[in-house]
Amino acid sequence: MNERLALFPGSFDPFTNGHLSIVHRAAKLFDQVIIGVLFNTSKAMFLTPEERISLIQQSTANISNVLVVSSESGLTIDIAKEMGASFLIRGIRNSTDYEYERSIAYMNQQLDSNIESVFFMADNEYCNVSSSMIKEIAKFGGDVSRFIPPSVNDMIKKKYSSGDLH
Ligand code: ADP
Repeated sequence: MNERLALFPGSFDPFTNGHLSIVHRAAKLFDQVIIGVLFNTSKAMFLTPEERISLIQQSTANISNVLVVSSESGLTIDIAKEMGASFLIRGIRNSTDYEYERSIAYMNQQLDSNIESVFFMADNEYCNVSSSMIKEIAKFGGDVSRFIPPSVNDMIKKKYSSGDLH
């Protein structure tokens, strides 16, 4: 039987425990989960693609069937096809995510009906966690350690204390 490969695309700027929870759950369902770190050369990001990849690799090192790759933003289904993935994974935290993801999923279905979108409900503990909220709180010195993996917390602290921001 063909391997069931799933692509989990996102900006992951930074990777949070909410993302990690989705990865853990998806890794039980699929043979391989490919985390696709999307970068957009014209959009300012907090972390570089290399930093994001390294932090995700450290945070998922104990899950054997996870691969982290980066790709310039483009059509997600094209990236999935390039990777040989037949499934797209997305997380849903609230009704805003639902409406947004639903329209993208319908569009992707029109573009390629062989690629199936699979949605995971956010973990109750992390359903209010977003990368932008983490950045906002951390900027003002708030403690975000319970919402992000330890390596991400260390990197954020280092960035804000050194003023090394992208
Ligand atoms: P994007 O810019 O593509 O939305 P994100 O990194 O913000 O990238 O999110 C990637 C995916 O992870 C999206 O499907 C998003 O809904 C989901 N996600 C983000 N935060 C959480 C969370 N706390 N719990 C579950 N899913 C989440």
